[in-house]
Amino acid sequence: MKRKSNRYTLDVTSLNAFYGKAQILFNMSLGIDRGEVVVLLGRNGAGKTTTFKSIMGIVKPKGGKILFNGQEIQDLPPYQTCGLGLGYVPEDRRVFSRLTILENLEVGRQPERKGLEPWTYQRLFELFPNLSERRNQFAGTLSGGEQQMLTIARTLMGNPEVVILDEPSEGLAPVIVDQLAATIRQIKNEGVSILLAEQNLSFAKRICDRAYLIYHGSVCYESPLDQLDNDEYEKYCSI
Ligand code: ATP
Repeated sequence: MKRKSNRYTLDVTSLNAFYGKAQILFNMSLGIDRGEVVVLLGRNGAGKTTTFKSIMGIVKPKGGKILFNGQEIQDLPPYQTCGLGLGYVPEDRRVFSRLTILENLEVGRQPERKGLEPWTYQRLFELFPNLSERRNQFAGTLSGGEQQMLTIARTLMGNPEVVILDEPSEGLAPVIVDQLAATIRQIKNEGVSILLAEQNLSFAKRICDRAYLIYHGSVCYESPLDQLDNDEYEKYCSI
């Protein structure tokens, strides 16, 4: 799918990525603007996680360009992409189970970023009241949903401009998914951009502005979420 380059805050153009000799991403192109919530929809194995890992510098792409605020980042290691303002919450949402919630948050701390209000404990605990009540508890004692919230809170401590969330609703009870949707909307309202992967379409429809359908390592369809063509979704994403 061709599109104009240099349009977005985070702008991925014609990215190719491999594991060994196996090519996983084929000319992957997508972007996200400030304050947007954008979702990658696709079946298991479509290449969503590999796209995120390539953006973060965990997987080194072979060919293609990633611009973040106009700066080329496709050759940078993860600590530098994080330092520039990209935050990543991987699918396995690991917390440091033998550290307290406060200590977990401290691990994520990074300097303030120009133009964004810095995240403090007070702001985070307003957003995540359940964590506030348990701030001195070991993270390993939290439920799966609370651990997901903690990984998001820890990522926000890095004062990111863009947060990448890999399947945030996976495995969570419906009531927790509702809380997560409300939290993501609040984070968006704070001016943070959010790029996520999802298989739960109804969850995505509640929080996302735009969708890319990912099929066999490339974008096959793009649209505002409220105009998503159901036939296209069924063709490329239904399980
Ligand atoms: P899922 O929801 O299953 O995570 P996804 O869309 O995020 O799906 P990826 O995790 O990016 O897909 O995987 C894309 C392809 O790359 C799959 O075929 C997967 O088996 C393969 N793959 C992923 N990680 C590796 C790896 N470390 N080594 C080799 N192949 C891998």
